[in-house]
Amino acid sequence: MSGSLALRLLDLAALLAYFLFQGLLAREVLLGLSGAGDHVWWILPIATVGGYLWADFISGFVHFLADNFGSIRTPFLGPVVFRTFREHHVDPEAITRHSFLEVNGANCLISVPFAAATYYFVPVATSVLGLAFGAFMLLFLFGIFLTNQFHRWSHLPRRPRWLRALQATGLILSPTVHQRHHTPPYDTYYCITSGLLNPVLARTRLFERIQAPLGRLLEPLIGKAEPVDFGATSDADTDAAA
Ligand SMILES: [Zn+2]
Ligand SMILES: [Zn+2]
Repeated sequence: MSGSLALRLLDLAALLAYFLFQGLLAREVLLGLSGAGDHVWWILPIATVGGYLWADFISGFVHFLADNFGSIRTPFLGPVVFRTFREHHVDPEAITRHSFLEVNGANCLISVPFAAATYYFVPVATSVLGLAFGAFMLLFLFGIFLTNQFHRWSHLPRRPRWLRALQATGLILSPTVHQRHHTPPYDTYYCITSGLLNPVLARTRLFERIQAPLGRLLEPLIGKAEPVDFGATSDADTDAAA
């Protein structure tokens, strides 16, 4: 079996497992909502807004980490994660040439343990606190699933009218917002789900403030990030990147 076929099968298994556990979790949330009565209706809008914003924050934080820390020579993480993110700056449109599975498999894979753990260990259908947490996780992980798809759409050279309209609402990552990240020195606007948190994070300089202390913690473990060679021709995968 070729390496890329094995990876696509892994992506497919991750996608199926993701929808299995998200489906089970959604059923628990619906059971919890119907069992607890009308007074818990507020959980759903709060979980939707909170989960979607948290997905945007996590997309930005992971992107910030992968762009700034870790050597591409670090075993496994180097070629699979760090190189992928950094080469996205060299060839941003490579992501648009990848299939649905290539684009979305990785985020499904990392989401499955969180969806499964919430389903098995949190009393979603039987306690209000469990219901609130379960609904939040369900919608947060759905936001994580959408992240690379929204990111890919922001790089499409030609976008259908419905997509341009959706991006113009600001509710999903727009090319204009994301372009601010793709401008040297690539050190701002890391969030790639909706991008709604980018202005807030840029103004508070949160990532800049934690960069030096995080570097002292992470660089002994995963190495220093090499400068990206923008003259190089990229032939690596850039699907999971930002
Ligand atoms: Zn991008
Ligand atoms: Zn980046």
